[in-house]
Amino acid sequence: MDGFESHSSRFAHYILGNAALETLAIGFRWIEGPVWMGDANCLLFQDIPNDRTMRWIEGQGASVYRAPSYYANGQTRDRQGRLIACSHRKRCLFRTEYDGRLTKLVDRHAGKRLNSPNDVVVKSDGSIWFTDPLYGISNDYEGGRQTSEQPPAVYRFDPQSGEINVVADDFDGPNGLAFSPDERRLYIAETGDQNQQSPRQYIRAFDVQADGRTLSGGDIFHKIEPGYCDGMRVDEDGNIWSSAADGIHCISPSGELLGRIFVPHVVANLTFGGPAKNRLFIGASTTLYSIFLNRRGAQTP
Ligand code: MG
Repeated sequence: MDGFESHSSRFAHYILGNAALETLAIGFRWIEGPVWMGDANCLLFQDIPNDRTMRWIEGQGASVYRAPSYYANGQTRDRQGRLIACSHRKRCLFRTEYDGRLTKLVDRHAGKRLNSPNDVVVKSDGSIWFTDPLYGISNDYEGGRQTSEQPPAVYRFDPQSGEINVVADDFDGPNGLAFSPDERRLYIAETGDQNQQSPRQYIRAFDVQADGRTLSGGDIFHKIEPGYCDGMRVDEDGNIWSSAADGIHCISPSGELLGRIFVPHVVANLTFGGPAKNRLFIGASTTLYSIFLNRRGAQTP
C-alpha cells in the first residue's frame, strides 16, 4: 500500500485500495479546527494566523467564511447543530446562532479569564468539554500575547446553567480531546509546556464517572511518534485517529498503533465528514487534504 503503513489486518481493511490522499486547498498559514457541516455540504476550518475561518465546498474550493475569526481554533457542533468555536484572541468559547449572530458562551472560571481555549467537544447531554492551555496567548502569531490568569485545565461547561467546572488540571498543555463512542472514556492530548526542552506529549485516557460529569484515571494511553497528538477523532469502532508529524495514526481502543496514513506536511487536526462520514478531512500546516476510508466517524457531533 503506497502512502500507508499497516501494523494490523484491521487497518488494512480500513484503507480503500483505490482511494488516494487528495489535496483540496493550499495557501494557508496554519490549519486547525475542521468541522463538517453536512446540512450545508461544506467543511469549515480555521486558518489561525490569518485570523479567518475558511469554508471548503466540493467542486468550488476554499473561500473565506468569517474574518476576523478572533483567532478561532477548535470547532464542533452542539446537539442542535450550532457551531461552537474556541477563540484565542477573545479567550472564550462562542456559538454561532441560526441567524448568524455570535454568542459568547464562557470566558471565565472562578472570576478569572480563561487562557486560550484550544479544542472542544459536545457530549450527548449537551455539555461542552474544552481544553484551555496557554498556547494562544503565549505569542503574537496565533492570537496575541496576553497574561495568563490561571493554570491550564480541562473544563466542562453547561450552556443551560452557565456552570463551569474543572474536570482535569494536571496538564502542562491540554489540547485535542474526544469521547469514545459510548462516552465512557475521554481521550485528552497533552502537548506539554513548549518552553521546556522535553515537553510531556502523549494521549491520556480518562474514565467518565457514572455522574457523566467528572473524570477519574488519566493514565498515559499512547505516545505518538514522530511529533505529537494535537487533534484526534474517534471512529465507529472506537479507534482513535490522531494527528502526527508524519500524518495520521490509527490507534485501537487498547492503545495499539494499527497503522499510519502518511501526509506530506505536519498534521494538526482532522475530522470525519461527507454524507457517510467516511471521509477524513485533514488540516496539515498550510494544506487541506482528505482521504476516503472504509470506516465511519463515530456518531457524535
Ligand atoms: Mg489543538
